[in-house]
Amino acid sequence: MELETLRSAVRGTVVSDRDPGYPAICDALLFNGRKPARRPRLIVEAADAEDVRRAVRYAAAEGLAVSARGGGHNWSGVAQQAGMVIDLRRLDAIRIDPVRRRAEAGPAATNRRMAAALDAAGLAFPLGHCGSVPLSGYLLGGGLGWNAGSWGVACFSVESLEAVLADGRLVSASAAEHPGLFWAAQGGGPLFPGIVTGYRLRLQEAPGAICTALHIYPSGRAEALAGWMERLAAEAPACLEMTAKFCPAPPPFADRAAHLAIGIATVFARDGEEADRVLAEVAQSAPAGAIGQGPAMPTPFATLYDTVDAAYPEGRRMAVDALWSDAPAALFAALARGVERAPTPECHAIATLPSERAPLPGDGAFSMRARAFGAVYSLWQDPAADAEGTGWMRGVAEAAAPVTRGVYVGEADLARPGRIRQAYSPAALDRLLALRARYDPAGLFRRDIAGLPLGAGAAEPA
Ligand SMILES: Cc1cc2nc3c(=O)[nH]c(=O)nc-3n(C[C@H](O)[C@H](O)[C@H](O)COP(=O)(O)OP(=O)(O)OC[C@H]3O[C@@H](n4cnc5c(N)ncnc54)[C@H](O)[C@@H]3O)c2cc1C
Repeated sequence: MELETLRSAVRGTVVSDRDPGYPAICDALLFNGRKPARRPRLIVEAADAEDVRRAVRYAAAEGLAVSARGGGHNWSGVAQQAGMVIDLRRLDAIRIDPVRRRAEAGPAATNRRMAAALDAAGLAFPLGHCGSVPLSGYLLGGGLGWNAGSWGVACFSVESLEAVLADGRLVSASAAEHPGLFWAAQGGGPLFPGIVTGYRLRLQEAPGAICTALHIYPSGRAEALAGWMERLAAEAPACLEMTAKFCPAPPPFADRAAHLAIGIATVFARDGEEADRVLAEVAQSAPAGAIGQGPAMPTPFATLYDTVDAAYPEGRRMAVDALWSDAPAALFAALARGVERAPTPECHAIATLPSERAPLPGDGAFSMRARAFGAVYSLWQDPAADAEGTGWMRGVAEAAAPVTRGVYVGEADLARPGRIRQAYSPAALDRLLALRARYDPAGLFRRDIAGLPLGAGAAEPA
């Protein structure tokens, strides 16, 4: 089929690797400044689900592998594959039904826009921690979002979705229709055998007050923070979200400690009174040895996003891994020690311990988790420092390996051979691969993911 046929058939745009604007358009696919060597032959920016169907049919006829691009935020650049990338950025509509407490959202609707729209309706959803991440890949990977202690892992608040299959059909998937496909969308991440073009979401009542307080320690107190957070996970209300951040000390603290372990307490409360009470309990139980405190202050979603987004500037060169562990103190200590050797001041790690009262994940491909979650973030600017930046991140993950089991697919180091296999239980991975064979027998949605060749043409990346 002629490329011109596709160009005239879609409402969106088609760019080939021979077009003059291609390099910049290709570079803009990914949030990470560090791009994979593989580049697509065609980039189709879809205007609607019909465009996705047309593009999929064209790719099937031409023997091109297809990869969807939601926001290109997966740190390992897995959205950018050879063949055809279908860019969903224009599928970002948001419709809220306040009476039924449901939302319909396009895959490219970002956390920040969703939060603003929901807030205006007095509603909420377990949205991710960074404003520019879209629902698309966030929900497919599982979705470890704000207030997970009360609202659970986000993909289990998806009621149904629409997806384009490898044969070009547009289908609905839910617990009742295409249940296998729906199961795969709840944590399958890059292995989902289709392209999601719309989500229907169950919503929550918006918290009346969101407040945050900081407890700042030298990084040597990491294990004490873990013990404190374990007690809070067992005893504090589920609406308390505790995160430990390990980072080089900024100027006000640098004379007292070279590296910090910061306990960040965010509460999603019914009202200001409850928020004050929970944060006062957190402060009373805090371990000794703090070298600073950030007093409780209101942090509506817009403020949370401003704060988190500032730590991850788009276009920075980045390498990330995300680990599960049943040994919180050892995980915290390993991350803190790793950050003490960080090559740049922007490198950091985080660790969280969800409330013991958090809703249990449902039955989905999201099958790997443990008591504590940790992630290590390497950020640098100089392309010549790629090996050092990636090497540091992998060294920290490796040092933590004896106390970790499994990774989170949304933030895992998927360029590391075999890493993706650790994102699922063995049974879930088998089922995902069987569903891929059923829904995509010709391997149209094949992926070049290190250590898991999928479908014809899949190869280990350099
Ligand atoms: C700054 C930052 C903060 C983050 N914070 C969090 C967080 O708080 N919680 C959390 O859980 N995760 C977080 N993540 C991870 C993020 O949720 C995942 O990387 C997610 O994949 C990003 O979504 P995306 O649409 O941009 O994915 P992309 O990078 O576009 O795609 C990732 C994979 O999913 C596939 N895919 C994407 N969209 C579709 C679709 N519609 N249909 C079929 N396949 C699709 C792609 O083909 C690719 O294989 C964060 C990432 C960043 C960069």
